[in-house]
Amino acid sequence: MANINLDLEIRNKLDSVIERIEKARKLVSHHHIVKIVAVTKYSDVNIINSLYNIGQRAFGENRVQDLEEKSNILINLPIEWHFIGTIQTNKINKLLALKPDLIQSIDSYETAEAISKRLKDGEKISALLQINGGREIQKSGVEPEIGIETYLKIGEQLKNINLKGVMTIGSHTDEVIEISKSFRDVRRIFEVVQKNGASICSMGMSGDFEIAIAEGSNMVRLGSIIVK
Ligand SMILES: *Cc1c(COP(=O)(O)O)cnc(C)c1O
Repeated sequence: MANINLDLEIRNKLDSVIERIEKARKLVSHHHIVKIVAVTKYSDVNIINSLYNIGQRAFGENRVQDLEEKSNILINLPIEWHFIGTIQTNKINKLLALKPDLIQSIDSYETAEAISKRLKDGEKISALLQINGGREIQKSGVEPEIGIETYLKIGEQLKNINLKGVMTIGSHTDEVIEISKSFRDVRRIFEVVQKNGASICSMGMSGDFEIAIAEGSNMVRLGSIIVK
């Protein structure tokens, strides 16, 4: 599946994104490492393949059907697949059968419970708790006020959900102050649950990843900026 032109184009885009991430993370600390999850929901497998060829390993999809199709085609590549979309109850079995490396979008205790019920004893799935950082009605996720409590309850009650941290989608606005604040609220939750083993704070997309990193994100989910 070699496509040298596509590889070059993608490499240039990824390189310039990595440069921006480097600047942003070093302003936090030289020890602050930020992982890139390439969101390929708009992309076909050729683009995923190109990204893989230049070293990208973590990929995110937001529809179970797409995750199934793409991961099946690329089954021979040691890709780390993340599910980042809304979890529909009727798709949970299919999602779990694909054994994603990380489900980033557990948006309530009830969703966690529904996933847990479908796992066998001893089976575990790694996941993040999605927080509605921007407190937007149409966006999913746990309200920040009950973020810590929900995180701890999942940890205590649902032993086969291996919670590794939190995820949020920043406020949908051009106001940098407001976007920062939505990330900061989630970072505060992250700092508390770090004492319970959380290590991932997934915040920042193409339009706001530098703000997210400044507010403590250590995982950015980048789609359009890499592939468009
Ligand atoms: C689509 C999507 C992204 C990537 O969005 P871009 O703006 O294209 O970078 C990140 N996170 C989630 C949850 C998404 O649905």
